[in-house]
Amino acid sequence: MQMNRIGRIQYVEVDFPGIPCSTQGFTTRHEGVSRPPYNSLNLGLNTQDQQATVEGNRSLLARAFGLSQGALVTPRQVHGSDILVISEPNEDFSHFLSVEGDAVITNQPNVMIGICVADCVPILLCDPTHKVVAVVHAGWKGTAAKLVSKTVAGMQSEFGSDPAQLFAAIGPCIQKCCYEVDEPVRKAFQQGGVAWDSCTELKSPGTWQLDLAAANRELLMLAGLPADSIQLSEQCVCCHSEQFFSYRRDKEESGRQMGFIMLKG
Ligand SMILES: [Zn+2]
Repeated sequence: MQMNRIGRIQYVEVDFPGIPCSTQGFTTRHEGVSRPPYNSLNLGLNTQDQQATVEGNRSLLARAFGLSQGALVTPRQVHGSDILVISEPNEDFSHFLSVEGDAVITNQPNVMIGICVADCVPILLCDPTHKVVAVVHAGWKGTAAKLVSKTVAGMQSEFGSDPAQLFAAIGPCIQKCCYEVDEPVRKAFQQGGVAWDSCTELKSPGTWQLDLAAANRELLMLAGLPADSIQLSEQCVCCHSEQFFSYRRDKEESGRQMGFIMLKG
Protein backbone atom coordinates (compact mmCIF):
# COMPACT_ATOMS: atom_id res chain seq x y z
CA MET A 1 0.00 0.00 0.00
CA GLN A 2 1.27 3.45 -0.78
CA MET A 3 0.02 7.01 -0.93
CA ASN A 4 -1.03 7.99 -4.42
CA ARG A 5 -3.01 10.69 -6.11
CA ILE A 6 -5.66 10.52 -8.81
CA GLY A 7 -7.06 13.85 -9.96
CA ARG A 8 -7.08 15.82 -6.71
CA ILE A 9 -7.86 12.79 -4.53
CA GLN A 10 -5.04 11.63 -2.29
CA TYR A 11 -5.50 8.04 -1.17
CA VAL A 12 -3.75 4.91 0.04
CA GLU A 13 -3.55 2.85 -3.12
CA VAL A 14 -3.74 -0.93 -2.86
CA ASP A 15 -1.98 -2.91 -5.53
CA PHE A 16 -2.90 -6.58 -5.77
CA PRO A 17 0.18 -7.79 -7.68
CA GLY A 18 -0.59 -9.22 -11.10
CA ILE A 19 -4.30 -8.43 -10.75
CA PRO A 20 -5.26 -5.80 -13.33
CA CYS A 21 -9.05 -6.31 -13.12
CA SER A 22 -9.74 -3.99 -10.18
CA THR A 23 -8.87 -0.58 -8.73
CA GLN A 24 -8.98 -0.05 -4.96
CA GLY A 25 -7.77 1.89 -1.99
CA PHE A 26 -8.53 3.87 1.13
CA THR A 27 -9.20 7.61 1.11
CA THR A 28 -7.52 10.12 3.43
CA ARG A 29 -9.06 13.36 4.72
CA HIS A 30 -7.24 15.49 2.15
CA GLU A 31 -8.42 17.63 -0.76
CA GLY A 32 -12.16 17.62 -0.21
CA VAL A 33 -14.50 20.59 0.26
CA SER A 34 -15.75 20.14 3.86
CA ARG A 35 -14.91 22.86 6.37
CA PRO A 36 -13.43 22.19 9.81
CA PRO A 37 -13.93 20.07 11.80
CA TYR A 38 -14.88 17.84 8.87
CA ASN A 39 -11.99 18.97 6.71
CA SER A 40 -11.92 18.05 4.18
CA LEU A 41 -12.78 14.86 2.27
CA ASN A 42 -15.64 13.77 4.52
CA LEU A 43 -17.50 11.00 2.64
CA GLY A 44 -19.95 10.01 5.39
CA LEU A 45 -23.60 10.84 4.73
CA ASN A 46 -24.57 10.27 8.37
CA THR A 47 -22.38 12.95 9.94
CA GLN A 48 -23.41 16.45 11.02
CA ASP A 49 -21.48 17.94 8.13
CA GLN A 50 -23.61 19.59 5.43
CA GLN A 51 -25.21 17.03 3.14
CA ALA A 52 -24.45 19.02 -0.01
CA THR A 53 -20.78 19.23 0.95
CA VAL A 54 -20.56 15.48 1.54
CA GLU A 55 -22.29 14.92 -1.81
CA GLY A 56 -19.68 17.18 -3.36
CA ASN A 57 -16.88 15.10 -1.86
CA ARG A 58 -18.46 11.85 -3.05
CA SER A 59 -18.79 13.30 -6.50
CA LEU A 60 -15.10 14.33 -6.45
CA LEU A 61 -14.10 10.76 -5.57
CA ALA A 62 -16.30 9.17 -8.24
CA ARG A 63 -15.19 11.59 -10.93
CA ALA A 64 -11.50 11.09 -10.09
CA PHE A 65 -12.01 7.46 -11.12
CA GLY A 66 -14.01 8.35 -14.23
CA LEU A 67 -17.44 7.55 -12.77
CA SER A 68 -20.66 9.45 -12.23
CA GLN A 69 -21.72 9.92 -8.62
CA GLY A 70 -24.54 7.40 -9.21
CA ALA A 71 -21.92 4.71 -9.69
CA LEU A 72 -20.62 5.06 -6.12
CA VAL A 73 -22.48 2.73 -3.75
CA THR A 74 -22.21 2.69 0.01
CA PRO A 75 -24.95 0.91 1.97
CA ARG A 76 -26.66 2.36 5.03
CA GLN A 77 -24.27 1.00 7.64
CA VAL A 78 -25.77 -0.15 10.93
CA HIS A 79 -22.97 -2.18 12.60
CA GLY A 80 -24.92 -5.29 11.59
CA SER A 81 -23.97 -8.27 9.48
CA ASP A 82 -26.17 -8.01 6.38
CA ILE A 83 -24.50 -8.13 2.97
CA LEU A 84 -25.73 -6.27 -0.09
CA VAL A 85 -25.18 -8.26 -3.32
CA ILE A 86 -25.27 -6.37 -6.63
CA SER A 87 -25.36 -8.80 -9.52
CA GLU A 88 -27.25 -6.90 -12.21
CA PRO A 89 -26.30 -3.88 -14.29
CA ASN A 90 -28.00 -0.62 -13.23
CA GLU A 91 -28.10 2.72 -14.98
CA ASP A 92 -27.89 4.45 -11.63
CA PHE A 93 -26.94 2.60 -8.47
CA SER A 94 -27.91 5.36 -6.05
CA HIS A 95 -31.07 3.57 -4.84
CA PHE A 96 -28.73 1.15 -3.00
CA LEU A 97 -27.70 4.01 -0.70
CA SER A 98 -30.81 3.42 1.41
CA VAL A 99 -30.31 -0.35 1.73
CA GLU A 100 -29.08 -1.42 5.17
CA GLY A 101 -25.91 -3.48 5.19
CA ASP A 102 -22.31 -3.54 6.33
CA ALA A 103 -20.73 -5.32 3.38
CA VAL A 104 -21.23 -5.21 -0.39
CA ILE A 105 -20.35 -7.82 -3.02
CA THR A 106 -20.56 -7.22 -6.75
CA ASN A 107 -19.57 -8.77 -10.06
CA GLN A 108 -20.57 -5.62 -11.95
CA PRO A 109 -17.87 -3.51 -13.61
CA ASN A 110 -17.67 0.27 -13.33
CA VAL A 111 -19.51 0.51 -10.04
CA MET A 112 -17.43 1.64 -7.08
CA ILE A 113 -18.49 -0.08 -3.86
CA GLY A 114 -17.40 1.55 -0.64
CA ILE A 115 -17.61 1.47 3.13
CA CYS A 116 -17.35 4.63 5.25
CA VAL A 117 -15.30 4.42 8.44
CA ALA A 118 -13.82 6.57 11.16
CA ASP A 119 -12.19 3.97 13.45
CA CYS A 120 -13.67 0.71 12.15
CA VAL A 121 -11.74 -1.60 9.84
CA PRO A 122 -12.40 -1.28 6.10
CA ILE A 123 -11.64 -4.52 4.24
CA LEU A 124 -11.41 -4.99 0.47
CA LEU A 125 -11.67 -8.38 -1.27
CA CYS A 126 -10.97 -9.32 -4.87
CA ASP A 127 -11.53 -12.58 -6.75
CA PRO A 128 -9.63 -12.10 -10.02
CA THR A 129 -10.71 -15.51 -11.37
CA HIS A 130 -14.46 -14.92 -11.25
CA LYS A 131 -14.14 -11.13 -11.34
CA VAL A 132 -15.94 -10.40 -8.09
CA VAL A 133 -15.10 -7.74 -5.50
CA ALA A 134 -16.34 -6.92 -2.00
CA VAL A 135 -16.02 -4.36 0.79
CA VAL A 136 -16.59 -4.98 4.49
CA HIS A 137 -17.17 -2.64 7.46
CA ALA A 138 -15.78 -4.33 10.55
CA GLY A 139 -16.05 -2.53 13.86
CA TRP A 140 -16.00 -4.62 17.00
CA LYS A 141 -19.58 -5.72 16.43
CA GLY A 142 -18.96 -6.71 12.81
CA THR A 143 -15.77 -8.49 13.82
CA ALA A 144 -17.51 -10.38 16.64
CA ALA A 145 -20.23 -11.33 14.12
CA LYS A 146 -17.51 -12.56 11.69
CA LEU A 147 -18.85 -10.35 8.91
CA VAL A 148 -15.67 -10.73 6.86
CA SER A 149 -16.02 -14.54 7.01
CA LYS A 150 -19.69 -14.24 5.98
CA THR A 151 -18.66 -12.05 3.06
CA VAL A 152 -16.12 -14.61 1.82
CA ALA A 153 -18.83 -17.28 2.16
CA GLY A 154 -21.19 -15.03 0.20
CA MET A 155 -18.66 -14.67 -2.62
CA GLN A 156 -18.43 -18.47 -2.67
CA SER A 157 -22.17 -19.16 -2.69
CA GLU A 158 -23.21 -16.32 -5.05
CA PHE A 159 -20.35 -16.34 -7.53
CA GLY A 160 -18.36 -19.56 -7.02
CA SER A 161 -15.28 -17.87 -5.54
CA ASP A 162 -12.54 -20.03 -4.10
CA PRO A 163 -11.15 -18.44 -0.88
CA ALA A 164 -7.68 -19.72 -1.77
CA GLN A 165 -7.75 -17.46 -4.85
CA LEU A 166 -8.91 -14.31 -3.10
CA PHE A 167 -6.85 -11.21 -2.33
CA ALA A 168 -7.60 -8.95 0.62
CA ALA A 169 -6.53 -5.56 1.97
CA ILE A 170 -7.18 -4.44 5.53
CA GLY A 171 -7.10 -0.64 5.63
CA PRO A 172 -6.12 2.09 8.07
CA CYS A 173 -8.19 1.85 11.25
CA ILE A 174 -7.85 2.44 14.97
CA GLN A 175 -4.91 0.33 16.07
CA LYS A 176 -4.16 -1.45 19.31
CA CYS A 177 -2.27 1.62 20.67
CA CYS A 178 -5.48 3.66 20.88
CA TYR A 179 -8.25 1.08 21.14
CA GLU A 180 -9.09 0.26 24.72
CA VAL A 181 -12.16 -1.93 25.16
CA ASP A 182 -13.94 -3.60 28.03
CA GLU A 183 -15.95 -6.63 29.04
CA PRO A 184 -18.95 -6.35 26.64
CA VAL A 185 -16.55 -6.50 23.70
CA ARG A 186 -14.79 -9.56 25.10
CA LYS A 187 -18.15 -11.21 25.67
CA ALA A 188 -19.26 -10.53 22.09
CA PHE A 189 -16.03 -12.00 20.70
CA GLN A 190 -16.44 -15.11 22.84
CA GLN A 191 -20.08 -15.52 21.83
CA GLY A 192 -19.09 -15.18 18.17
CA GLY A 193 -16.24 -17.65 18.57
CA VAL A 194 -13.65 -15.05 17.54
CA ALA A 195 -10.10 -15.30 18.90
CA TRP A 196 -9.52 -12.93 21.79
CA ASP A 197 -6.20 -13.74 23.47
CA SER A 198 -4.16 -13.51 20.26
CA CYS A 199 -5.64 -10.09 19.38
CA THR A 200 -5.59 -8.34 22.74
CA GLU A 201 -3.32 -7.19 25.50
CA LEU A 202 -4.64 -6.95 29.05
CA LYS A 203 -4.26 -3.38 30.24
CA SER A 204 -5.86 -3.48 33.66
CA PRO A 205 -8.48 -5.81 35.15
CA GLY A 206 -11.48 -5.61 32.80
CA THR A 207 -9.81 -3.50 30.09
CA TRP A 208 -7.87 -4.60 27.05
CA GLN A 209 -6.10 -3.05 24.06
CA LEU A 210 -7.73 -4.68 21.03
CA ASP A 211 -6.10 -5.23 17.63
CA LEU A 212 -9.18 -5.30 15.35
CA ALA A 213 -7.10 -5.53 12.17
CA ALA A 214 -5.32 -8.64 13.47
CA ALA A 215 -8.65 -10.22 14.46
CA ASN A 216 -9.94 -9.75 10.92
CA ARG A 217 -6.72 -11.01 9.39
CA GLU A 218 -7.11 -14.17 11.46
CA LEU A 219 -10.73 -14.57 10.30
CA LEU A 220 -9.63 -14.24 6.66
CA MET A 221 -6.98 -16.92 7.12
CA LEU A 222 -9.51 -19.21 8.83
CA ALA A 223 -11.80 -18.63 5.83
CA GLY A 224 -9.08 -20.03 3.59
CA LEU A 225 -7.15 -17.02 2.28
CA PRO A 226 -3.38 -17.56 2.05
CA ALA A 227 -1.44 -15.33 4.47
CA ASP A 228 0.54 -13.74 1.66
CA SER A 229 -2.65 -12.73 -0.16
CA ILE A 230 -3.65 -10.46 2.74
CA GLN A 231 -2.24 -6.92 2.93
CA LEU A 232 -2.49 -4.99 6.16
CA SER A 233 -2.08 -1.28 6.83
CA GLU A 234 -0.36 -0.48 10.09
CA GLN A 235 -1.48 3.14 10.14
CA CYS A 236 -3.49 4.17 13.18
CA VAL A 237 -6.24 6.65 12.26
CA CYS A 238 -6.44 7.88 15.86
CA CYS A 239 -2.70 8.67 16.05
CA HIS A 240 -2.69 10.45 12.67
CA SER A 241 -5.11 13.37 12.76
CA GLU A 242 -3.29 15.03 9.86
CA GLN A 243 -4.18 12.10 7.61
CA PHE A 244 -7.37 10.43 8.86
CA PHE A 245 -10.66 10.89 10.66
CA SER A 246 -11.16 9.08 13.99
CA TYR A 247 -14.40 8.91 15.92
CA ARG A 248 -12.75 7.95 19.18
CA ARG A 249 -10.54 11.02 18.87
CA ASP A 250 -13.00 13.58 17.49
CA LYS A 251 -16.42 12.18 18.50
CA GLU A 252 -19.34 13.86 16.72
CA GLU A 253 -16.91 16.14 14.93
CA SER A 254 -15.37 13.26 13.02
CA GLY A 255 -15.78 12.85 9.27
CA ARG A 256 -15.53 9.52 7.46
CA GLN A 257 -12.96 8.10 5.08
CA MET A 258 -13.76 5.31 2.66
CA GLY A 259 -12.43 1.91 1.65
CA PHE A 260 -13.42 1.38 -1.99
CA ILE A 261 -12.99 -1.12 -4.80
CA MET A 262 -14.15 -1.26 -8.41
CA LEU A 263 -13.98 -3.83 -11.19
CA LYS A 264 -12.72 -2.28 -14.38
CA GLY A 265 -14.90 -2.50 -17.48
ZN1 LIG B 1 -2.92 4.88 17.77
